[in-house]
Amino acid sequence: MSETESEISIELLRELSLASGPPGAEDEVRAIVHRELGSLASLQHDAHGSVIVEGSGQGPRVALDAHMDEVGFAVQSIDDEGRIHFVPLGGWWGHVLLAQRVDILASGGRKIPGSIGCKPPHFLKKLEREKVLSIEDMHIDVGARNRSDLEQWGVRVGDPICPRGQFEALAAAGRYCCKAFDDRVGVGVLIESFRILNADTDLSCQPIAVAAVQEEVGCRGARTASAISQPDVAIILEGTPADDLPGMTSRQSVLGGGPQIRFLDPTALSNRRLVRLCEQVAEEEKIQVQLAVRRSGGTDASTTHLHGSGVPTIVVGVPARSIHSHSSVIDIDDYQKAIQLVVALVRHLDTDTVGSLTDYSS
Ligand SMILES: [Zn+2]
Repeated sequence: MSETESEISIELLRELSLASGPPGAEDEVRAIVHRELGSLASLQHDAHGSVIVEGSGQGPRVALDAHMDEVGFAVQSIDDEGRIHFVPLGGWWGHVLLAQRVDILASGGRKIPGSIGCKPPHFLKKLEREKVLSIEDMHIDVGARNRSDLEQWGVRVGDPICPRGQFEALAAAGRYCCKAFDDRVGVGVLIESFRILNADTDLSCQPIAVAAVQEEVGCRGARTASAISQPDVAIILEGTPADDLPGMTSRQSVLGGGPQIRFLDPTALSNRRLVRLCEQVAEEEKIQVQLAVRRSGGTDASTTHLHGSGVPTIVVGVPARSIHSHSSVIDIDDYQKAIQLVVALVRHLDTDTVGSLTDYSS
């Protein structure tokens, strides 16, 4: 990839990652997808706001899916002293939350900044220090003096709340830190690879971009978008949890180790023939990949592969450390290699190859 191209992709990734997109409120991310893909082909939407873009090309329908939402919260109640109590949307761990910045996406149209309140050590009892505080016992402090401040600012029960982060290039070249790499790296790979594929006149299939909503609350957008994308084969693009962490042995998702091909997790089995084809393509393209069998987790593959009478599906992930927090870390080389791998894989997907993925006659 040329220097110019890599600069472009980093700027796009920065913009995507900083956009606010808690489940059900993916508008800012959707606007970027519209801008980037809307001029290439006509846009369609499912009833929940997923974007489906049918590319040019004849042959099997190949869906490239990434989810636009990120883990966030919603306003549960507001108390008389102007504190906001909240519920999580998606999987959060209490340890990563206290004193973190958030934005309330207020019904009144404003973004109201705040932080998740915590007791300073001065007031902590010994037992309190040793346990993880339950999210139910946390609140958001936006500096309001009372309930009526929040009413004036248009904050209502049910309003979405989004982590607020910074996009930073770290000291190690090619490594970046930001919120929401799960799954804005996937959305970035989706946009970059779809652009290349849509312009490829030799393609023997039809690429279809799917930017899905509400993955973090149960892969709901991928389910409803499939009714429009009608995929013959699906490639799910994810920001996948890196496991190069202290105490974790058998590593299958190391930063800088290349894209992850997820064979299975409790919610989906990738099509074996598609996995082997992807490995073969990676070898041809000299792209190092990491095969993963996951004991936990799940992706949009969970609902996509069950669409209709079943869709052969594979998950390609960009490893990201500390996902579902305000500060995840990626290696941009994995991101670029994921784009290359997806493009090369889709170029192999002609009618015969896609047919062979689900040929059980012999
Ligand atoms: Zn994800």
